[in-house]
Amino acid sequence: MAENKTALVTGASRGIGRAIALQLAADGFDVMINYAGNEALALEVKAECEALGVKAAVFQANIGDKEDVEALIKATVTTFGAIDVLVNNAGITRDNLMLRMSDADFDDVIDVNLKGVFYLTKAAAKLMFKKRSGKIVNITSVSGVTGNAGQANYAASKAGVIGLTKTVAKELAARGIQVNAVAPGFIATDMTDVLSDDLKAKIQETVPLKRLGTPEDIANMVGFLASDRAAYITGQVFHIDGGLVM
Ligand code: NAP
Repeated sequence: MAENKTALVTGASRGIGRAIALQLAADGFDVMINYAGNEALALEVKAECEALGVKAAVFQANIGDKEDVEALIKATVTTFGAIDVLVNNAGITRDNLMLRMSDADFDDVIDVNLKGVFYLTKAAAKLMFKKRSGKIVNITSVSGVTGNAGQANYAASKAGVIGLTKTVAKELAARGIQVNAVAPGFIATDMTDVLSDDLKAKIQETVPLKRLGTPEDIANMVGFLASDRAAYITGQVFHIDGGLVM
């Protein structure tokens, strides 16, 4: 039997990352599940992936830390032998109005959401270069496209991810490596659970499809971009947001 391909998903212990890990497992990828602190949840995702008939492993790493990222990449290669698909999903928010935003909150969000994507993409691309194939999917946000009051740090990081995606797509295309981004709108996860019910109802009203998205709505697009059906697509940003941005 042919070896499975391998996918590395950052921030896969819960939310959108968990749904992506499960979708890729369902599509036959062995999966490396990265997490920051929630080992128990990561192990649950591992068991769920294995129940779908593939190999899975977990690895704790702060993706904002270069040494942690190097250890994560090394562990993935040691465990599975390759990285065919990298999904840069892990992300954080530290919301505040710009005039009240601390330097630390600005730096933390840039370190994880933007520098983390740079560290991982660079390390994975070196491996993909040798194989002359690979797919990288970066999870950005509608905030990075339209801006969002209270999210100067987050919107800057996610806009940065879009610029990085398009640049790296141009640099790596000749090597058979595709790089795309997915921009979710409001998705029901722990990240948006902190919003009041009142605010969530108001947001829902502004979404043309009149509901918050599910992690699976995002995972469906990532699964497609990781598949051979997306063979002629690179450098694109796909909005999965119920029509919020159009
Ligand atoms: P979430 O529910 O808060 O989950 C975050 C995930 O990232 C967890 O697995 C967490 O691990 C991991 N993580 C956090 N910091 C990390 C770090 N420094 N290193 C490694 N892993 C880290 O978030 P989500 O809503 O699923 O969001 C996933 C991605 O989608 C993010 O990039 C987010 O910006 C983007 N997004 C989300 C929405 C939305 O509405 N939810 C909208 C647009 C874009 P632990 O469990 O171990 O803490």
